[in-house]
Amino acid sequence: MPAPKKLTPMMKQYFEVKRALPKGAILLFRLGDFYEIFYEDAEIASRVCGITLTKRQDYPMAGVPHHAIENYVPKLLAAGHKVAICDQAEAAVPGKLVKRALTRILSPGTTLAANQLDESRNHYLCALHRDKKGLHAAWLDLSTGEFQLATDARADNLLPVLTALEPAELLLIEGDAATWREAPHDDVDAHALRDFCADRLVTELPGYHFEIAEGARTVLDALGVLNLEGFGLDEKHPGLGPAGALVHYATENLCAKPENLRALQEYRSARTLLIDPATLRNLEIFQSSRGSRAGSLLTAINRTSTAAGARLLERWLSAPELDLTEIRRRSATVGELLGEPMLLGELRETLAHIRDIPRILGRLQNRLRNPRELGGVRDTLGQVPDIHRLLSDFGQTLATDYPARIAELPELRDLLQRALSDEMPTDIAEGGAIRSGFDPELDRIRNLTRDNKTWLSELESAEQARTGIKSLKVKYTGNFGYYIDVTKSNLHLVPDNYIRRQTTVNSERFVTDELKQKEKEILHAEDNALARERELFATLIERILDESITLSHSAAALAELDVLAGWAVLAREWDYHQPELDESDVLEITEGRHPVVEQMLKAPDTAIIRGNQSFVPNDSLLSSSGEQLALITGPNMAGKSTYIRQVALIALLAEIGCWVPAAKCRIGLVDRIFSRVGASDDLARGNSTFMVEMNETANILNNATDRSLIILDEIGRGTSTYDGLSIAWAVVEHLHGSSEQGPRTLFATHYQELTQLDKHLPRLRNYSVAVKEWNDDIIFVHRIQSGAADRSYGIQVARLAGLPPSVIDRAKSILGKLESDDTSVELSAPQAKPKKKISVKPADDSQLSLL
Ligand code: ADP
Repeated sequence: MPAPKKLTPMMKQYFEVKRALPKGAILLFRLGDFYEIFYEDAEIASRVCGITLTKRQDYPMAGVPHHAIENYVPKLLAAGHKVAICDQAEAAVPGKLVKRALTRILSPGTTLAANQLDESRNHYLCALHRDKKGLHAAWLDLSTGEFQLATDARADNLLPVLTALEPAELLLIEGDAATWREAPHDDVDAHALRDFCADRLVTELPGYHFEIAEGARTVLDALGVLNLEGFGLDEKHPGLGPAGALVHYATENLCAKPENLRALQEYRSARTLLIDPATLRNLEIFQSSRGSRAGSLLTAINRTSTAAGARLLERWLSAPELDLTEIRRRSATVGELLGEPMLLGELRETLAHIRDIPRILGRLQNRLRNPRELGGVRDTLGQVPDIHRLLSDFGQTLATDYPARIAELPELRDLLQRALSDEMPTDIAEGGAIRSGFDPELDRIRNLTRDNKTWLSELESAEQARTGIKSLKVKYTGNFGYYIDVTKSNLHLVPDNYIRRQTTVNSERFVTDELKQKEKEILHAEDNALARERELFATLIERILDESITLSHSAAALAELDVLAGWAVLAREWDYHQPELDESDVLEITEGRHPVVEQMLKAPDTAIIRGNQSFVPNDSLLSSSGEQLALITGPNMAGKSTYIRQVALIALLAEIGCWVPAAKCRIGLVDRIFSRVGASDDLARGNSTFMVEMNETANILNNATDRSLIILDEIGRGTSTYDGLSIAWAVVEHLHGSSEQGPRTLFATHYQELTQLDKHLPRLRNYSVAVKEWNDDIIFVHRIQSGAADRSYGIQVARLAGLPPSVIDRAKSILGKLESDDTSVELSAPQAKPKKKISVKPADDSQLSLL
């Protein structure tokens, strides 16, 4: 920016701060009651937040009142900017330049304030680095202190979880993103990384921030430990490079070391069910295809009543378990909760009063200290005895495991209940956070103020009586202090000891020596009271932080309880049943339903349009070594996609420990779910529909194991009929393979020709979706039945879609010819005169061609 030639000392100070900031950070510079923004920053802020742009000397400037900053910062962050806050570091003295210092830098991945975070979602900052050994990553939710790292020889083992985390900000080494963008076509990992980074906020850092040895030191220091053995980590773990970069970046942004990091966990892809990014999108796990949360699986199964519970649900869904003991523990607990409906209701009511302890701790530890947060800890601890009482009446796990994990902390609870006011102020400077009767010293100072205030109000009546001026008032203003107000008509009655200070339109303002003396005492006492409150407040925070580990463990158990209790309610509402999970290779579902479509059909607005249709349940049976591949044919709109997705979603639900929308269900653990469904366009990234489809298919064929579950919908649609059919054919053969077993696969297709494959492939079974014919119409009954579909009913579906009757008639006649051996159809379309004949059966080169 063009610095003016002659700078005032204040502007010099501004530039010093500005120069030390990372590129692109918008500086909010505290000047008295305002945060001022200068130069280009002012222009950006004015554009993004709609604040007025003014000029100071010859440069642009904009300002926001200091107390309103919370309204503007989220807007700047949402627009992808970083915001640096510079405050006054000492009290202002007239005529002297105040010291100022950077308080913190806010970026989308490092904010902590409640109004800048979605409470029901984790908020990750993620760092990535790829070298010859593979992909190394670390992620951190600074608001809760959750910190993980991972390394894997193959990017596609880590990208599923990274995509599911939906990081708010990515840290990369300078130049890495460009390398990935320009990587050769066969570098599949680089392209996957490029896609992952596209549309996200990326912050680039110099490579040395990602060094492993330095990272290990930074991480040890942040965690306050001497080695990483306690976390089962080697100090040469390649994920420590990115982990160090995260801590470094967070420290720079907070202008202090993050104080809420307690543990570093290693994520291992082999321990979780992997769902690749395309499948997460296709199955609409976190977002519907329209990009909203409504219509996603997450929303359909979320019945949590706390923010921490909602975040945990999202985490479980992004990394489903492969550990049978843990899965069974969760689903058995749901069963215990369901067994006591009355208690379950009470438990959920109690949980609804639990506040967001992980984030409260995160803010308190990182110097964001709002009195209301202390109230949150008090209210939460206040619920714990009730929760313990309720749990003791449940079955085994709930009555023993959970109470042991949720600490009562009676001393801290009593302390906070005695110390804090019922209604807490938002700012400690407002006063009133500490309850009277808690601290004798504070009470003494407050009494002084109170006595003085009584004296003031008595002064008013005494002076009215003494002077005979009925309208005489004792008043107060911020910059003038206490004064006696006398209207102009009564000025002749003013006694001698009144000292005139100011004249206004209708009255004159006076003081007396006595009043000035009292004023001093009052203001002094108020300052003292505030100072004492601050002291007490700081001690209370220390007491809470002394218990931070216990509190966060308790909060984790409460969040689990919330998710599981929510699932119990879900199971009751929608008649879900407990799935059986084991090491077998089967997938057997009786009367399964699609969890999202089922709820949508019952939603009031859909129910009106669809005439209150119910979801039709269907069975499924697959096993790697038996009925490995189900080929499903049937007309469009019959319910093929819904059916194959429902199988994948049921498997996913079972592996997070949730009950499932089915009467009965047995699943041998699935290690990965793959899908290729719909024709999702990716034109924005320069890929044709067909290319996307083939990429996704290639990924499946290259990575599926015998334990995987694959759903494929309409493979080969994006190219010419015969190309498509041939590809689909070869894909089915490949998935079936020649060995004894293969991945459990559901393959929905409109290529009737594929149904013949059951003659050659012993583990392939034909299924179709039943439709009823009625006159010339078809009715969808959405029932899956054994055996191939006999025809595709395309024309009937086209009619339902509203194609003009003339087109439908013409299509029927073409179809009739095609189904007979007649290879030519008369062209009768008006624009095609004179009549020509067109060959509709493949010529020798298998292409349709015009004669
Ligand atoms: P296809 O893939 O065969 O073209 P879809 O799976 O997209 O068909 O289903 C078409 C519509 O039929 C869906 O929008 C859904 O509302 C409805 N549907 C599908 N399966 C069922 C079912 N089992 N019960 C009730 N309605 C269903």
